[in-house]
Amino acid sequence: MAHEVYNWQLGRKMAYPYKEAHPNWQFAFVFNINRCIACQTCTMACRSTWTFSKGQEHMWWNNVETKPYGGYPQFWDTKILGLLEEANPGGQSWDTAETNGNGRPYGVYNGQTIFEAAIKRYGPEGHQRAIGYIPEDDEWRYPNIYEDTATGLQGAPGKWGDSSLLPEHKTWFFYLQRICNHCTYPACLAACPRKAIYKRKEDGIVLIDQNRCRGYRKCVEACPYKKSMYRGTTRTTEKCIACYPRIEGKDPHITPDGVPIETRCMAACVGKIRLQGLARINPKTGNWAEDRYNPLYFLVKKEKVALPLYPQFGTEPNGYYIPPRWVPRAYLRQMFGPGVEEAIEKYAAPSRELLAVLQLFRAQQKIIFRYEIKEGPKIFETHIDGKPWSMYNDTVIGFDKKDKEVVRLAVQEPVHVRAEKHYNSI
Ligand code: SF4
Ligand code: SF4
Ligand code: SF4
Repeated sequence: MAHEVYNWQLGRKMAYPYKEAHPNWQFAFVFNINRCIACQTCTMACRSTWTFSKGQEHMWWNNVETKPYGGYPQFWDTKILGLLEEANPGGQSWDTAETNGNGRPYGVYNGQTIFEAAIKRYGPEGHQRAIGYIPEDDEWRYPNIYEDTATGLQGAPGKWGDSSLLPEHKTWFFYLQRICNHCTYPACLAACPRKAIYKRKEDGIVLIDQNRCRGYRKCVEACPYKKSMYRGTTRTTEKCIACYPRIEGKDPHITPDGVPIETRCMAACVGKIRLQGLARINPKTGNWAEDRYNPLYFLVKKEKVALPLYPQFGTEPNGYYIPPRWVPRAYLRQMFGPGVEEAIEKYAAPSRELLAVLQLFRAQQKIIFRYEIKEGPKIFETHIDGKPWSMYNDTVIGFDKKDKEVVRLAVQEPVHVRAEKHYNSI
């Protein structure tokens, strides 16, 4: 039986197989696509921690793919978008006339979600809770297929040199970093006939109980992000576990200070594109509680510079992306919804506060629950898109769960000059 739940990313209620229920805190993260260098350090950090065993050879819980052609499994997003389109031709549109800061930040999604499309196709008591598909074995074979392959030059008007001019490059690609989104309304959980999948009350992490799972692969079929993966050797399904021992912060061998630390894939990021944390949930609304100086709250809810990945799927994913500046907007709007223009505008000419908060990405391992900014002098002036813009050397200070200072960084990186007598020493 379908219930009505509120999905703030869609700005409306939607059908979901279970009643609305929310955790106290929600595991969430922001990826800044603009900075990723596709080094795959994140991918290897996860791999070497969790998926190095027999039967897991094809499993990359974290992967970084080149868009638009790349995908792991191959073409996962175009396939699910195709299924949504088939269910509701031309319906994937947004009404952006009415927005507000929190409960409806991007307007209202008019189309059908994967849950609603399944009801339309199979009925409310149907055997399938979400539309989806099980990828063929060969679709998992090449996690980084089409690496660095660009698109767009063919047929593009203008000269060759125009192809890489902002605001939209005519020839383009970008890297999309992906892990399980620990969705608010997980399709994997909705589809599991064994009730083997659960969402934890304390942090919203979605886990598969390996004792209950019988490997029916209904979750593999239903997860629109294809982040639930079958393991032949155990005949069960596995997925990203959000490195929960690190998030709990209770194991003295992993977190000796007794505070949560960021996951392996986040902490290892060389490009400093990742910031992960916990968003406090308002028990009355199920939405993020106002937490003005939590960096995630600031980026997602206040500044709205980070957007959910394919919000139209309807799972309310908890991964957010700062969209790439150079990519054609129509493509980005389909991927991140109608907030794309505003997000790129904010990122291209960052406010004083945003510039300071962006320094917190990968500054250290402990999860930052609060930040403070100490104002510094103006150090640079220019024009961006014809408007004056100034840079200030502000200092941002981050605090852990115990409200202890764990990081302090200035916008302008300090220069250290080595004393002459140590020039050749290491
Ligand atoms: S480690 Fe960071 S920069 Fe490197 S591929 Fe992963 S997300 Fe991108
Ligand atoms: S991304 Fe997929 S596997 Fe992860 S919680 Fe959402 S539906 Fe489940
Ligand atoms: S959060 Fe942990 S388990 Fe999940 S992809 Fe990252 S490293 Fe892997």
